[in-house]
Amino acid sequence: MLRQALLVASRSGGARKVVETAPFTGDVVRRFIAGETIEDAARVTGDLTSEGLLVSLDVLGEDTHDKGHAEANVQHYVELLERLGAASLGTRAEVSVKLSAIGQTFGEDLALENARRICAAARSASTTVTLDMEEHTTVDSTLRIVHELRHDFPDVGAVVQAYLRRAEEHSAELAYEGSRVRLCKGAYAAPTAVAFTDKEEINKSYVRCMKVLMAGKGYPMLATHDPRLIDIAGALAVLNERDADTFEYQMLYGIRPQEQRRLAAHGAQVRVYVAYGREWYEYFMRRLAERPANLRFFMRSLVGR
Ligand code: FAD
Repeated sequence: MLRQALLVASRSGGARKVVETAPFTGDVVRRFIAGETIEDAARVTGDLTSEGLLVSLDVLGEDTHDKGHAEANVQHYVELLERLGAASLGTRAEVSVKLSAIGQTFGEDLALENARRICAAARSASTTVTLDMEEHTTVDSTLRIVHELRHDFPDVGAVVQAYLRRAEEHSAELAYEGSRVRLCKGAYAAPTAVAFTDKEEINKSYVRCMKVLMAGKGYPMLATHDPRLIDIAGALAVLNERDADTFEYQMLYGIRPQEQRRLAAHGAQVRVYVAYGREWYEYFMRRLAERPANLRFFMRSLVGR
């Protein structure tokens, strides 16, 4: 109930105004968002990579209904990738892109064309792009775009959301040689006709997908903070005789940072998803929806404690 309410609020203009202008919002937001500018992103990327962690950078600004805004987002990604290229980090720092931020609302052709421009900039910077998965209504379109892009950019990462009833099918289709696939639980509100809503059902689906991906020939990117799922991932790596460089764990910036470092210290590849930019509201509200403790922390900050 609370999760659904927060996800609805993430799309509400009125709630956005209240949250954005609350006096202590900034401190809490900074826990999950790396900053507002490319300089902030570059600084955090430098810190994380120097600790042996990998990074995927997300420029905030999703669900764009303005073509000029979509174009500005593409240009921002290109500039960011030039900056990453200059730092010679290779695939240690890649980018994550939401198609809704670069024109998907205006049709698949524009989103595909803009994604191509970002992939080309990533190639020049010797790094990769992963296309985030968003609302369930956009999943088929996003998978079609991944498929098209992979003709020219085979290293484009795809995302499977375990809460979707078709997640296992998506995993099987994507578990081929060279295919980079992020597996996450899924962060949006989706109807029961297309998605599991019970936490245990979602966890079971995650395990089924992970089994398919870890047994397959692709490169699984296991995005979760869930200790049970991380343990199962480790066991599946042993079972499938996977070396540490044939898959990676992924976690969000600001969530379980000690666990990120513990896994890396044990030789695992760990990528931190770092979101930055001025348009943090929707991303931030999804983080609140995921965990009551995050919400309590935020409410305490609103009353100034
Ligand atoms: P949860 O069910 O939220 O948490 C499980 C357990 O993890 C908790 O019980 C607790 O033990 C631990 N935990 C969780 N949060 C904390 C915390 N703050 N502190 C301490 N312990 C904690 N979603 C999409 O829909 N599309 C995407 O493209 C996408 N990309 C993602 C990329 C990355 C790298 C990550 C990590 C997530 C991504 N997500 C994406 C979000 C994802 O779908 C989930 O909403 C989010 O990761 C929370 O799920 P969880 O697996 O951590 O499990």
